[in-house]
Amino acid sequence: NRRVLLAARPHGKPVPQDFRLDETPVPEPQDGQVLLRTLYLSLDPYMRNLMNAAGASYAPAVAVGAPMVGGTVNRVVASRHPDFRAGDLVLGNAGWQDYALSDGSGLTPLGDMPRPSLALGALGMTAFTAYVGLLDIGQPQPGETVVVGAATGAVGAVVGQLARLKGARVIGIAGGADKCRLAVEELGYDSCLDRHAPQLAAHLAAVCPNGIDVYFESVGDEVLDAVLPLLNNHARVPVCGIIAHYNDGAPPAGPDHRPALLSTVLQKRIRMQGFVILDHYATRFADFRREMGEWIAAGRVKTREDVVDGLEQAPDAFIGLLEGRNAGKLVVRVAGD
Ligand code: NDP
Repeated sequence: NRRVLLAARPHGKPVPQDFRLDETPVPEPQDGQVLLRTLYLSLDPYMRNLMNAAGASYAPAVAVGAPMVGGTVNRVVASRHPDFRAGDLVLGNAGWQDYALSDGSGLTPLGDMPRPSLALGALGMTAFTAYVGLLDIGQPQPGETVVVGAATGAVGAVVGQLARLKGARVIGIAGGADKCRLAVEELGYDSCLDRHAPQLAAHLAAVCPNGIDVYFESVGDEVLDAVLPLLNNHARVPVCGIIAHYNDGAPPAGPDHRPALLSTVLQKRIRMQGFVILDHYATRFADFRREMGEWIAAGRVKTREDVVDGLEQAPDAFIGLLEGRNAGKLVVRVAGD
């Protein structure tokens, strides 16, 4: 059983030495347990927060020497649990390893899914985050302008498409010309700006002549700075993530942006709301799963994945995620379906 362990807590950007691949015997299920084989592992930005000693409000830190945690699609290979049979496909949290034991809690049967990896992306946590953040909090109206950072990522690609579906004008911000092309040609953004190009703020102002009504915040940093002066009265800002800051060891040097932020929020009567998607499964997941299933089946939402082969590639792929190397939902294919 190969496992990727947290070898050391990163200082700033994670490096390969922060991870260690080890091998242990495949465990045997006891009464009430199932043995899971991981088919797909989801790689997500929140994992960076769980590599810090402080962890996050929604999950504890990964202990040094323990396997990295993560959402997975698994095949049950042996079961001593009344609710599961060998061969079942399930959504679980087996982490960065080939095999794991489970007592069944937190496992969701997936039935016969033609593309099981979608349970981690377009039909799973990241698209659900886009759905709740954009539709429940952002509430875009036809003709409004919606701006999306990390526009081609797992969450962003769905935010952009759903905003479009609701009749909004959608402007993406992404890392590099290739991703921007993909955003417009494949995901239906009206326009997409490269976050690395100089004068992002001026370019954004040029493509948002009517200001910004919804800013789906996933990034922070210069993207937020560019958006802030363009926000309209009564704009909505779902605060989903601030990926540009996950590697910060200390508060950034430079001018203090707090007064500008607060005064904009106040004067423009902006509604800024943070959300953690775990809170919404009980009330909204069923609606999401049904609607998203229909949109995908009808070709109205495209499912883009960035699939990396092999568990041993997970550290490098995760480092790449935090550098913007992925386009679409990043998943590791650990074993064949
Ligand atoms: P993505 O697939 O979008 O991958 C991360 C992307 O972030 C990169 O590809 C990169 O794209 C972009 N990025 C922007 N600025 C930076 C920067 N300064 N440094 C590095 N990368 C940057 O990941 P997800 O879709 O899974 O997550 C997107 C956001 O949503 C994250 O902030 C995440 O924490 C958050 N999230 C929040 C949840 C919640 O419950 N609130 C649940 C799930 C995700 P590019 O180079 O194109 O800009």
